[in-house]
Amino acid sequence: SPQIVWLRRDLRLADQPALYAAAQAGPVIPVYVLDDDAAGDHAYGGASRWWLHHSLESLGNSLARRHSQIVLRRGDAVEQLLKVAEEAGASCIHAIRHYEPWWRKAQGRLKDSIELCLHDGNYLLPPGAVRTGAGTPYKIYTPFSKSLLDHMPPNDPMPEPETISSPEKWPQSDSLDDWQLLPTKPDWAGGIREFWRVGEAAAHERLAEWEDEVADYDDARNLPSVDGSSRLSPHLHWGEISPAQVWHALDGRRGKGWEVYAKELIWRDYAQNVICQTPDYAKQSYRDGYADIWRNPNRGHLIAEDLQAWQRGLTGYPIVDAGMRELWQTGWMHNRVRMITASFLVKHLLIDWTHGEQWFWDCLVDADYGSNGVNWQWTSGTGVDSNMFVRIMAPLTQSSKFDAADYIREYVPEISHLSDDDIHDPADELRGDYPVKMIAHREARERALAAYRQSRNG
Ligand code: FAD
Repeated sequence: SPQIVWLRRDLRLADQPALYAAAQAGPVIPVYVLDDDAAGDHAYGGASRWWLHHSLESLGNSLARRHSQIVLRRGDAVEQLLKVAEEAGASCIHAIRHYEPWWRKAQGRLKDSIELCLHDGNYLLPPGAVRTGAGTPYKIYTPFSKSLLDHMPPNDPMPEPETISSPEKWPQSDSLDDWQLLPTKPDWAGGIREFWRVGEAAAHERLAEWEDEVADYDDARNLPSVDGSSRLSPHLHWGEISPAQVWHALDGRRGKGWEVYAKELIWRDYAQNVICQTPDYAKQSYRDGYADIWRNPNRGHLIAEDLQAWQRGLTGYPIVDAGMRELWQTGWMHNRVRMITASFLVKHLLIDWTHGEQWFWDCLVDADYGSNGVNWQWTSGTGVDSNMFVRIMAPLTQSSKFDAADYIREYVPEISHLSDDDIHDPADELRGDYPVKMIAHREARERALAAYRQSRNG
């Protein structure tokens, strides 16, 4: 009988164990359900919807070349899948396991109604697979990473199924264009379009280039002006490529660059490991005892204004503004600059990290419930790691230390004419239309430390 493949963030044909298993068992009906309600405040943001549209289009085209297609449905994922199963006379649904809390719930509900075959494949290892000596899952990255490395390399990637046979009759499908995932007016996606190629083939092309570049990763990855990281994050997030494919393409004889890179890939696994244990991690501080730092009832209107200046890249700190504008224009931001901008929001502006998490969620093409939440809580010191709130990043020092002058020139044209010496922290008379700093670094630092002390004493 027909086999349903429930597609989510696993939009590929190769190393797709759910698709592979379904294709062995009978005619395949790939289904994607756009379920905007289940995720609540983590329904896909604008940049994610843009990517999703193109990724579904690309996978749909690949399937069409194999005389197959994706059935598109909108609404409650469980209800829609059961409807498709009924229409098609299918008795089994295959899917790759996902760990976002709303998807775990949906997986649980489905299991009660139909045979659900869940497969692993979007992580190096399934979360919970590596455990402490006491048998509990890890909370902290370093021991998690060491333990996971002992189990590497991951299993060999699976090939594409040789044949994907079609059902005699296709269930009804929405049209992708009717979902209106792309912006209409204003069309804010011009920069994103220019910057990215979406889909499984594009992911593999980028990986092939990266094989020649990964050796320099250790040195280059911290320099925002240099194209020194893989930029595979949206492809990995949407499952256009699997981490096992990336690992096996790069593994062996690639020296320090590869070793450091492997640890970053492990951060991705780690983030899932954390949200599995604490499903609300991307929404709520893990250590609530620190929350008073950000609870200042008299700052209501100021927070809104400050938040907007940060979102728009108008803080007067060139490295912060370059990052926030890169995010808006391209749907991506350099990792070091993500750390700098996040720290600036949480410590310099004393705004609760969840506001930043939500903005990133809306703007990033790689917005990921686990990775975004884990990195934001890491920055704000509210997460599972030891509290690092008092280690306040100095954005101006970071900017010159990591040589961000050309990066700033690219994204902050108002000051692009300034010299390497002036551009990190222009004197007021050199700023022209560019805003003055919202708050001086020293003052911000003292204010943050005072708020921290107060929260500890109160
Ligand atoms: P590379 O440096 O080439 O790294 C390779 C891969 O490893 C990445 O593609 C990514 O899948 C993974 N990775 C690297 N660093 C991390 C990390 N710190 N945490 C988790 N995975 C990592 N990454 C996301 O994928 N989605 C997010 O929503 C996200 N939000 C972030 C929010 C903040 C505040 C910060 C500081 C970091 C965030 N990151 C997020 C992590 C990191 O910035 C991006 O994964 C990275 O910049 C992507 O670029 P790249 O593919 O060139 O990474």
